[in-house]
Amino acid sequence: MTYRRILLKVSGEALGRSESGRGLDLDAIGLLCRQVTEVVRSGCGVAIVCGGGNILRGAELGESGARRASADYMGMLATIINGLALSDGLEREGLDTRVLTAIEIHQVAEPFVRRRALAHLERGRVVILAGGLGVPLFTTDSAAAQRAIELRCDVLLKATKVSGVYSSDPAIDPDAELYDELSYMDVISRELGVMDGTAITLCRENDLPVIVFDLFEEGNLQRVVRGENLGTKIGS
Ligand code: UDP
Repeated sequence: MTYRRILLKVSGEALGRSESGRGLDLDAIGLLCRQVTEVVRSGCGVAIVCGGGNILRGAELGESGARRASADYMGMLATIINGLALSDGLEREGLDTRVLTAIEIHQVAEPFVRRRALAHLERGRVVILAGGLGVPLFTTDSAAAQRAIELRCDVLLKATKVSGVYSSDPAIDPDAELYDELSYMDVISRELGVMDGTAITLCRENDLPVIVFDLFEEGNLQRVVRGENLGTKIGS
């Protein structure tokens, strides 16, 4: 196994229905949870940061007229709904999980405390980190980069529905090229839209490798954790 502890970033859209990316799709969640179970059983520590875009994105609601900070708090709450859905799916597979949130919500989850998160990981529990960083104007990509560094993860795995990072949108451009490797600077200067600027800068400053890959092909997570060349690897 190449990576002993991973931070898996799952967008809200990945948990939503395939046509619209909205709501919660239990089949998609089931596929994801089976793959996480496989890598946990092989001894890999897993922390998951979930997004909320299947329910609400602060920037979108802000554009429709809501105050941005209020909209962002709604977005953070959306990520907690997704965290609970993931925890439910993983526990149905027989794993032990803990949802830790950056916004306190005692009846449903533990508050995020770094030492507690590390202790859960050491006990083989899947730690689901919801609520982003707990502050407006950030995204869950930034939270994923920050938590990966804080929890000493070996790699940030960004799950997508396509094979990796392309030169242009493969759904529109048949000549779109899939990159095997990119540097942090490539991502920033070519504005490849892999993750927001804050997130990629944090990864670069802390030399945290990022792999963008298709999580929706059964077995891919295990392949990435074993070190097989899959998707796009971003490093220095
Ligand atoms: N959000 C926030 N602070 C954070 C993380 C998230 O304000 O630290 C809000 C923001 O409004 C964001 C929403 O939560 O749009 C959902 O997260 P995100 O858009 O990153 O979800 P994804 O696109 O990954 O599904």
